[in-house]
Amino acid sequence: MNLTSSDDRPHQPSFWINYRGSASSPRKDSQRLASATIGAGQCGFTAGVQMRGGHIREHVEEGRSRDATIDRASLLGLSSWRRLCCLKHHIIILFAAVSIVSSACNVASSASLDTAYKTIAAARFVDLTHSFGPNTPVWSGFSQAKMAPALDPATSQPYSIEHDGFRTTYYEMVGQYGTHIDPPAHFDERGATLDQIPLHQMILPLIVLDDTPYLAKDPNHAYSLEDLRAWERKNGPVPKGAFVALRTDMYKDWDSNPERFKRSPFPAWQLDTLRYLYEQRHIAATGHESMDADTTEKMDSETYILKSGHYQIEVMANLDQVPTKGGLIVISWPKVRNGLGFPARAFAIVPR
Ligand SMILES: [Zn+2]
Repeated sequence: MNLTSSDDRPHQPSFWINYRGSASSPRKDSQRLASATIGAGQCGFTAGVQMRGGHIREHVEEGRSRDATIDRASLLGLSSWRRLCCLKHHIIILFAAVSIVSSACNVASSASLDTAYKTIAAARFVDLTHSFGPNTPVWSGFSQAKMAPALDPATSQPYSIEHDGFRTTYYEMVGQYGTHIDPPAHFDERGATLDQIPLHQMILPLIVLDDTPYLAKDPNHAYSLEDLRAWERKNGPVPKGAFVALRTDMYKDWDSNPERFKRSPFPAWQLDTLRYLYEQRHIAATGHESMDADTTEKMDSETYILKSGHYQIEVMANLDQVPTKGGLIVISWPKVRNGLGFPARAFAIVPR
């Protein structure tokens, strides 16, 4: 998915109307049709107007007119003022219909959000994020984080609640620390940075693929295309726009056995699987429990993901506690200007 494309904005209501026809004989005026094809993206209904005698396509997004083209040849081809008047009359009806449907949709959207919030609030929340500190595992090429009380530059003394009424921490660490986001710009000179990833990509349908059945035979199994096809035979196609996470259970070593967590090789993705997910299933993003998308420290898969305009979440936790499909993921990160990576907070919202 291209981060800047408009067709990956599933949450924006959109409406469109087709008005089409031909400059037919006056006798056929009475046969003009007025049938509805207004589509409303999130509103759950369709209506609209189709007419013979011209061709108008109107696209309205968020209640504003974005694009209107009129087939002038067809309009000029009308043989009488009466026909033109009739056409104008229908256009007025058409726009009145848009206005009514748009306002009805706004009401429906508001009610839908209210219902959606009630559903979400009653769901189960699962934290997919590790706590991190100065001693938690980090990729061998980076240093451990440093965290210290922030000093008052005037006195060189740490701020304290006792003397200053507050305290705070000074952090020194690489962006790719703990559970973190890698934006495309991490590997791509022209890729999107942290502040450029669209907000709607921070809440997505969640699919969790389970690598653990394969780990008994091969503890570093790369989740293959064959594995994915077996999953799809059972669960149906991976939905477009999903966030797809790979469960390996290696997250359990994060606190209890950090040295084992840092091992290489480790279980992760096979490049062909990622290619299929992004190119055939058009998913939005991927995540995994290891510090790299590949089963070793080579970076083919990570390079592919980031250079094709997607972000990834690394070092995820608790994927064994969410269903394989039917949940949502929310991912948040600081809006660092031109940021190339940062610790992220990810959680799942799943049915009880
Ligand atoms: Zn990373």
